[in-house]
Amino acid sequence: MSFFARGFTRQNVAAIAVGVFVAGAPLIAFNFWLGGIIERQGREDAEISARHAVTHAERRTGDVVRTLDALSSAGVGDCGPNALEALQRAAFETVPIKEIAILDASGRMLCSSQQKVVAAERETMRRVLSTEALEGAPNYALDVVNLPDGQSMVRLRRPLGSGSNAIAALVPAGMFLPHVAVQVFEQHLRDEFNGGVETGPAPGGLYAAVETRGHVVLAEFGRRKPVFTAGDGFAAEHRSRLYGFKVLVWVPSKLASAGGADLKWLSLYVTGVVLALLGLFAGLVARRDPNNPIIEMQRALAAGEFVPYYQPIVDITTGQLRGAEVLVRWKKPDGTLVPPAAFIPLAESSGLIRAMTLDLMKRVSEEAGKAIGERPGLKVSFNFASRLFADESVVKDVYGAFAKSPIKLTQVVLEVTERDPIENFAATRQIIAALQSLGVRIAIDDVGTGHSGLSYMLKLGVDIIKIDKIFIDSIGTDRNSTTIIETLVDLAHNMRMDVVAEGVENFEQVMHLREIGIRAAQGYVFAPPLPGSAFLKLVEAMDALGEKVATAHVVAAA
Ligand code: C2E
Ligand code: CA
Ligand code: CA
Repeated sequence: MSFFARGFTRQNVAAIAVGVFVAGAPLIAFNFWLGGIIERQGREDAEISARHAVTHAERRTGDVVRTLDALSSAGVGDCGPNALEALQRAAFETVPIKEIAILDASGRMLCSSQQKVVAAERETMRRVLSTEALEGAPNYALDVVNLPDGQSMVRLRRPLGSGSNAIAALVPAGMFLPHVAVQVFEQHLRDEFNGGVETGPAPGGLYAAVETRGHVVLAEFGRRKPVFTAGDGFAAEHRSRLYGFKVLVWVPSKLASAGGADLKWLSLYVTGVVLALLGLFAGLVARRDPNNPIIEMQRALAAGEFVPYYQPIVDITTGQLRGAEVLVRWKKPDGTLVPPAAFIPLAESSGLIRAMTLDLMKRVSEEAGKAIGERPGLKVSFNFASRLFADESVVKDVYGAFAKSPIKLTQVVLEVTERDPIENFAATRQIIAALQSLGVRIAIDDVGTGHSGLSYMLKLGVDIIKIDKIFIDSIGTDRNSTTIIETLVDLAHNMRMDVVAEGVENFEQVMHLREIGIRAAQGYVFAPPLPGSAFLKLVEAMDALGEKVATAHVVAAA
């Protein structure tokens, strides 16, 4: 008889069964118990999230309704200058509102808080997807509107006075969803909820949606499954008593927080260890791959291959130098210069942009700090990726970068582009305010080209707007653009902001800009971005300390 055959006697099989039962039962019981806790907690979490989301949507709606009611009583129906100013101010002061417009009986826009012409043009391309009455707000209609760029907007609309006109506010749909239930999710998930959120891949199958009374989905987070099966997670539904909205939340089991903090920490700890191991492994694999562009950029950063170029900004009324915008170049060891468009996007998505920007600040201080510091009137601008404003540690970073520099923080300008969406508006605004309290000034770059719209960006409380080259290019050929520039200049002056014109290429444009009251400009007509040595020579030539002779011609010749 073999050993195995001998092993499986009747007693042995019984003993094994008892052993499995004795060892397994506590494990099963433990799992049951844990399951119960997780189940209860999960249901509560989903419930709290849904209730929180309803309150949030109610608050947003209430703010908009109050603003429109107030404007209506103020009699803004004539689209006159006072009415326009009231629309602009209201759109500016009411956080979720992107734009307020007066519409005629057929729904055509008569005027808006945004620039008249642009808005009117865009209106013809807006698609109204659905319309229904807004419960709880008599006379109000709620439309879901699609902008040409695909952005989904909610429009709240009410009649204006006794006539047939209406007043309407446009709110990005994502504004109706909050940081859903901060209590539920870990910090890394929390970030996903900040600000306007639109449908996209959600962590681990999380889902949240806010629907109207008429079952139109206003905003959603995550992907809706055809069926949410109990056992896979926890669903909660909550309805707004004020406006009839319905919020639906789905928390997958694996995201529901476990009962005890210990369990949470244990799972965090295990996840942390696994992630660290995976990261290490991925790092090792990546390090072996010489073609990995991120690794290559890290190497180049350490080797000092990212160098600042300086494009002068000129006062076109006096010809004096006002400062420069720093534009990064990748100077490869073989001498080739790579333009930023080729590497900035990857630097931003990989997170390397932070180190790169701070390194650039340090290099500018070393190379041009003395010349700039000695001339307190000069300003130096850095392009600042909008994601850098999402983390408050940036305030310390910027402070530190110039702490020992001859360049004072009051000489520093940070440019944030209108092209990038602002992910967390409230945090960005706070961080901008903190930077401003250090003396740093903030500019909006590429104004007129972004998705967000100027009125939205202006709520960040900025100091300077930079008018994009496309508007400058069309000076003399396109009336609309000229009107837009003039309106921007008016707006900027009213709000005590400076204006810089970008991409100025000829003197006809300079003359025109001067006529409409723009003082500062940059572009090839004065100088292209210059390497440090050339820029320093230019500073000496235009702004020699002691003697003050400077004309735009000197710059043009440089
Ligand atoms: P930007 O901030 O809008 O910079 C202006 C761009 O217009 C620069 O291109 C500049 O060389 C170019 N330019 C200036 N005057 C004229 C002109 O008269 N005519 C024409 N056709 N172009 C003109 P550049 O240097 O290639 O930079 C491209 C973009 O890369 C910048 O656009 C900015 O968004 C980004 N960038 C550059 N440096 C940095 C940086 O350090 N950090 C970040 N985050 N982005 C940067
Ligand atoms: Ca810029
Ligand atoms: Ca620009």
